[in-house]
Amino acid sequence: MLKAEIIAIGSELLTPSRQDTNSLWLTDKLNEYGIHVWQKHIIGDNRKELSDLLKQAMDRSDFVLTSGGLGPTFDDISREAFADALDAELVYHDKIYDYIRKELRKRDVEPTENNRRQGNVPEGCDYVLNPVGTAPGIIYKNENVRVALLPGPPKELKGVFKRMAKKLFSNLDQTPVHTKVFKMITIPERRAEEKLRSIELPDNAEWSILASLGQVEAHLRITSSDTSEVEEITRKFETELTDCIGQRFFGYDEESIESLVAGLLSDNGHTIAVAESCTAGWLGKRLTDVSGSSEYMAGGIISYSNEVKESLLNVEKSALEKLGAVSREVALQMARGVKNALATEIGVSITGVAGPSGGTEEKPVGTVYIAVSGPGDKEMCHRFHFLGDRDSVRFMSTQSALDMIRVVYTGKEYESAYVKE
Ligand code: ATP
Ligand code: MG
Repeated sequence: MLKAEIIAIGSELLTPSRQDTNSLWLTDKLNEYGIHVWQKHIIGDNRKELSDLLKQAMDRSDFVLTSGGLGPTFDDISREAFADALDAELVYHDKIYDYIRKELRKRDVEPTENNRRQGNVPEGCDYVLNPVGTAPGIIYKNENVRVALLPGPPKELKGVFKRMAKKLFSNLDQTPVHTKVFKMITIPERRAEEKLRSIELPDNAEWSILASLGQVEAHLRITSSDTSEVEEITRKFETELTDCIGQRFFGYDEESIESLVAGLLSDNGHTIAVAESCTAGWLGKRLTDVSGSSEYMAGGIISYSNEVKESLLNVEKSALEKLGAVSREVALQMARGVKNALATEIGVSITGVAGPSGGTEEKPVGTVYIAVSGPGDKEMCHRFHFLGDRDSVRFMSTQSALDMIRVVYTGKEYESAYVKE
C-alpha cells in the first residue's frame, strides 16, 4: 500500500489556540485514493528544520503533503525550505505573479512587493494557481515520491488540492477506497455496536464506529475499483443496518439532524416555533444553524419561569401547581401555546431538570419532557432521562427534540434509548 506523510506547517499550530484540521481533511482524500497516511507532523516556521523534515519524509514515503507557509509574509518559508530540500534554486514565474495581481485587484487590494515572492517555485516543480486565494500550490514528482505543497487556510487548501489532484495522483496503480458514513441518532454507542456486529462483509470492506454526544456514525470503507461491487456492498450494509437500527438511522455523510429537519420543514412548507425552558434557546439556535432558516423558523419563547409559561404560553396554573413545570401536561401545553402564540404549523417544547441541583426522587436530574404539537392534529410527547452533566442533558434535550420533529414526519411511533415512558 502506498504510504503518505502529512506535514502541517505553522508555529501557531504548536500553541493551544490553533488546531491542525487540514491533515484530517487530507487524510480522508488520500484514503479515497487508497493511500495510507502513516505519519503526521506539526512543525513551526523554521526553514532549516522544515527542509530537514521534508528530506526525511521524501526518503521514506510515497507521498508528502504539506499545508501552510505559502503566503507572502516573512514567516512563510515553505517554498524556500522545499528548494533547500531539493537542493534546487527558486525560479520566478511571471504567470503566477500576474494572476495574483489580477486576483488582488478584483478585491481592491494593491499587491505588495512581498506578493512577488509567491511567484517563486523551486526548479523542477510544477504549480497550480489558487482558485480562492493567492498562494499557488506546488507539485514535485520523481520516480520514488510525489510532493504537494498546499496553502494553510482550509478553504484554499481544499481549492488547490482539488485542482492538483489529477496531476498528483496520475497513473497510480492503486485500488480506490470508497467511504460512506451512516448516521444514527440518540442511540448509545455500545448498543449500536452490538447491533451492527452481526453484519458480515467481504474481505475488501470494513466498518468502524465513531461516536459523539447523541450521535453514532458507522463508517463503511470498501476497497474496490468495481463500482457495481461498491454499490452492492453499500446496499447490503445499509439494508442490514436499517434492519437492526430501525428509525435511529437518519442520514449519510455530511447530513446533520439540523439540515435534515430544515429540509423536512421547507419541503412541507411548514413553520415552527419553540418554547424552551431548561434549554433556554439552544433548540432555537440549532434550528437556525442552517442557512435559509427564516423560511421555516418563526421564533421562540424562553419560558424559564412559571410566570412566563402561564402568561405567554397559556399554560394552566393548575397544571403547573398540581403536576409541576416538568410534566407531560405542561410540556404539551407549552408546545400548543407557542404554536398558537406564533401562529405556526408546529410548536415544540422542552421542559426538564438539567441539574446538577433540582432533582427529586420522582423527577431526578436528567428528567426532561419534550412535546411536538403539529403539523395538523399530530401530537407527540415523551419523558426522557439523560445522563451526564448540565450541558450534556441540555444538548441531548435539543438532540431529541430535533429527532422527534424528524419522526413526526415519518408518521411512525417514536422510539429512543432515552425515552422513559
Ligand atoms: P497565507 O497566505 O494566509 O499566509 P499560508 O499558506 O502561508 O497562507 P499559513 O500562514 O501557514 O498559510 O496559515 C494561514 C492560516 O491558515 C492560519 O492562521 C490558520 O488559521 C490556517 N491554517 C494553517 N494551517 C492550518 C492547519 N493545518 N489546519 C487548520 N488551519 C490552518
Ligand atoms: Mg502565511
